[in-house]
Amino acid sequence: MKLPVYLDNNATTPCDPRVLEVMIPYFSDIFGNAASRNHSFGWQAEEAVEYGREQVAGLIGAEDKEIVFTSGATEAVNLAIKGVFEMYASKGNHIISVTSEHKAVLDTCKHIERLGAQITYLQVKADGLIDLNELHDAITPQTILIATMYANNETGVVQPVAEISKIARKHGILLFSDATQAVGKIAVDVNKDGIDLMAFSAHKLYGPKGVGALYVRRKDPRVRLTAQMDGGGHERGMRSGTLNVPGIVGFGKACALCLNEMKNEGDRLESLRDKLENGLIKIGGIHINGNVQQRLPHVTNLCFEEVDGNNLLVSIAKNIAVSSGSACTSASPEPSHVLKAMGLNDQRAHSSIRFALGRFTAEEQIDYAIDHINKVVLELREWNQFIGAK
Ligand SMILES: *Cc1c(COP(=O)(O)O)cnc(C)c1O
Repeated sequence: MKLPVYLDNNATTPCDPRVLEVMIPYFSDIFGNAASRNHSFGWQAEEAVEYGREQVAGLIGAEDKEIVFTSGATEAVNLAIKGVFEMYASKGNHIISVTSEHKAVLDTCKHIERLGAQITYLQVKADGLIDLNELHDAITPQTILIATMYANNETGVVQPVAEISKIARKHGILLFSDATQAVGKIAVDVNKDGIDLMAFSAHKLYGPKGVGALYVRRKDPRVRLTAQMDGGGHERGMRSGTLNVPGIVGFGKACALCLNEMKNEGDRLESLRDKLENGLIKIGGIHINGNVQQRLPHVTNLCFEEVDGNNLLVSIAKNIAVSSGSACTSASPEPSHVLKAMGLNDQRAHSSIRFALGRFTAEEQIDYAIDHINKVVLELREWNQFIGAK
């Protein structure tokens, strides 16, 4: 069995060897600049980029021309929110988002608040879902954008995006979704879901780091954006800068693999996740954070009563890689803003751990994780009682 066991696939995923293989020639042999129009080096690179674009678009039911390549989801989020805020300034300055969003969204919102944006942050219910009535009530004539994530990175909870879209459409408001955790894992279709802008990233779906995309709807309605990067006018003027050709080739291949394997892989991971969850819960004093029906198949977030999450992480870190939430904020001792948004107190939030399985998770690793974590949790609890008794 492979140790340590990696159960932090929401932070990043390994690049699939099949993805790496198709990327390699584009670092050296086929090294052209996709914007070079005058020779075969450029044409070959451009052809590879356009094939990648087709594969990326294909995974989410989009047209090729609706894909804007970026350096990752963070950049795509910034481009979407800042780009809409600037472009639609004459229509209004109000944006609706949610307290449990990723920091990429929350910090971008904070940034434009300083530039005059009005942001309403919707609360989530105890199960992590937003209340559609509250969304409806938050809309004003100034509202230009609703920004709600597809699936939460800490809990895996999946928002009712298609329902949210109906409300947005009825009021002529654009819908942006940070779908970084959902794309490639569950069926995401920009038309069925009624999404106007959507951010996602290669390294969360077994592709390389440093490449992502923003989906930008081209009709019904045609979405316009102010570019956030000025330069050569690449990507239909929305994102200047020489394209990351090997990255885009890998992103495309990763998307094609996800599309092919999603159904089987989702079922496999769901049964492994359930096995892990049941195996841990049976020792008692463990709760699942978030809605258990509407969630990603490979994620669970568990609260271990009477255990400090950080102690648990440290105690198992040599053999099992998990996290207490978003990797981007793990430097801070603050409890997870996502769990706090769901109403958990600091202690419960500090006692919670995220488990995210992935394509390379094997059943024997889950068996091992159950035994090992149960042992450590019981030891930590005993120690707590010993300390408490003294
Ligand atoms: C990982 C993640 C991001 C950031 O993606 P990068 O490609 O690393 O910039 C944004 N949103 C969510 C929900 C994520 O999980």
